[in-house]
Amino acid sequence: MNIETLGVIGAGQMGSGIAHVAALAGRNVILHDVLEAAREGGRRTIERNLARQVEKGKVEAGARDAALSRITLAPSLDDLAGCQLVVEAAVEDEAVKRDLFRKLDAVLPDTAILASNTSSISITRLAAVTRQPQNFIGMHFMNPVPVMQLVEIIRGIATSDETTAAVVSLAKEMGKTPVECRDFPGFVSNRILMPMLNEAVFAVHEGVATPDAVDTIMKLGMNHPMGPLTLADFIGLDTCLSILRVLHQGLGDDKYRPCPLLVQMVDAGWLGRKAGRGFYTYSGPGGDRVQKG
Ligand code: NAD
Repeated sequence: MNIETLGVIGAGQMGSGIAHVAALAGRNVILHDVLEAAREGGRRTIERNLARQVEKGKVEAGARDAALSRITLAPSLDDLAGCQLVVEAAVEDEAVKRDLFRKLDAVLPDTAILASNTSSISITRLAAVTRQPQNFIGMHFMNPVPVMQLVEIIRGIATSDETTAAVVSLAKEMGKTPVECRDFPGFVSNRILMPMLNEAVFAVHEGVATPDAVDTIMKLGMNHPMGPLTLADFIGLDTCLSILRVLHQGLGDDKYRPCPLLVQMVDAGWLGRKAGRGFYTYSGPGGDRVQKG
């Protein structure tokens, strides 16, 4: 299937990144978010990240301008009616996603592919609210999308070979490496990553070490590019908590129980870098980390 126009739902960290990379790969992109501020913020993020790629010599100025001209901000889901593929990247909340896919199903033609960038929610269950579950798939990009190589491709029980082939080929044209896996809670990436991040929060919660010490130990000791709490802040603590709840409930094992400190920080609105505060403090929402001392 030829995908010329791609819809993206959610203009946050992930949606703006997916729109950015798809537009650079020559696709027309319709970027929808319920909030006008999020749509505008998404465009500013894309402009800033493209400018950085031009400065580093990774993207030509002409390609940047062409990519920006291919992105349209859309206030309504109806604006996605002409898309061959829609990638949903709204909040990690099953009720929100089900509602979105129910509405999208009524707007799009039967041939359209629906993809979710969910980190953990069942693709099979989301597909079940649509009329064409064979056209439904998980397309799980990594953060930050313009930089990270992997796209985890998740087939629901009904996903067809044609749908899989279309998104695998698109992911490659976006310069990514797609890897397929089956539809189980957290798929592969977050089933393995989240217990480590949760354990790092427990270490702070139990007073074993400060966030900085935990991160430094994991960086220098395990050769990780960033510590687990820096990474949790970067992903978003609300997103981490939602994923852990899906793992806990879906796999029924207490080893996935979210740390109470994580729950409390989300309750406080300390969602990590995107909120300006998490385990660390940032110059503002989405800003640079403020170094102590
Ligand atoms: P985010 O909080 O940065 O952005 C979410 C956006 O969704 C917000 O702009 C919000 O206004 C919008 N939104 C909420 N409800 C909506 C609705 N009904 N219709 C349209 N837009 C709506 O979150 P994010 O980090 O971009 O995560 C988005 C999705 O991507 C989640 O499912 C998350 O699990 C997944 N994901 C996140 C990461 C990560 O590292 N943050 C990585 C891979 C996948």
